[in-house]
Amino acid sequence: MDILTTNSDLHTHTTASDGHLSPKELVDLAVANQVTQLAITDHDTVMGYHHAVDYATQQGVSLISGIEVSTTWGAHSVHIVGLNFDSNHDAIKTLLLHQNNARTSRYRVILQKLSKIGMPISEDELLANAGNGQIGRPHIAKLMVEKGYVNNTNKAFKRYLGAGKIGDVKNGWASLSDTVSAINDSGGVAVVAHPNHYKMTHSKLMQFIDEFKACGGQGIEVIAGKQHPDITRKFALIANKKDLLASMGSDFHRHLPYAPVVGQLSPLPNDVTPVWTVFNLKQPVVHTMYSHAN
Ligand code: AMP
Ligand code: MN
Ligand code: MN
Ligand code: MN
Repeated sequence: MDILTTNSDLHTHTTASDGHLSPKELVDLAVANQVTQLAITDHDTVMGYHHAVDYATQQGVSLISGIEVSTTWGAHSVHIVGLNFDSNHDAIKTLLLHQNNARTSRYRVILQKLSKIGMPISEDELLANAGNGQIGRPHIAKLMVEKGYVNNTNKAFKRYLGAGKIGDVKNGWASLSDTVSAINDSGGVAVVAHPNHYKMTHSKLMQFIDEFKACGGQGIEVIAGKQHPDITRKFALIANKKDLLASMGSDFHRHLPYAPVVGQLSPLPNDVTPVWTVFNLKQPVVHTMYSHAN
């Protein structure tokens, strides 16, 4: 592979949050799929990145520091990806401590609500299920299946944990402004994750992007997993119109039929500015430039 050829995947998950591969297994998969530039963007934790960074360097993959932060914007829950920041910076540590506490108080409320409708799960069971990973609703969904409360995790979300259901507890996430500031103060770039995912009208989405930019946000995912070329074109136009950098990521959690795989994405359109063009302009993370031998 030519050194100028990049195969980037800047949105992935590991067992440090709700992904199914360990950080090292994810790096192995990225290598197998000839990814040159990878970001592990676990939900509200950088533990996966920390566990993989030396290994990735040994394997010749440029591992960019990453995070996916759950934030609140009005009535909406929006995910912001942070890339190429100093993962030991106090600003990011403070943000992640806040998010960790918000996740703990949220899952306690969810467990209480499930218990009240005859679906008890203990906190110990949940902690054991999540291993050392950041706890999210997918861990609760998995236990609901194991305990026979529902047949599969899709149903757990559809009936109990998804938007508008009893387990959809919106409490305490960092604000959009605090999230973007923490990423910027740590030397990184803030990116709107999977912009086609939100149930917003077009004008609401534009309003959101304007506020995101006013907070210091700089990027948007133009490629978010497998998507129709019309969607790619739509978000490339939005990125250019709003003067945003373009990012791309699979949002890989695990191997599933039809789900996107690490490093197997459509390329960014030629007319957008890739987010990585600013990585070496902003200080922090030392990453290795390299070329695959084959
Ligand atoms: P949380 O981080 O606790 O808010 O959980 C959100 C995560 O749950 C997302 O990142 C997805 O990985 C997963 N998720 C969201 N909706 C569904 C669904 N309908 N079925 C399965 N997993 C889902
Ligand atoms: Mn997830
Ligand atoms: Mn997300
Ligand atoms: Mn994600």
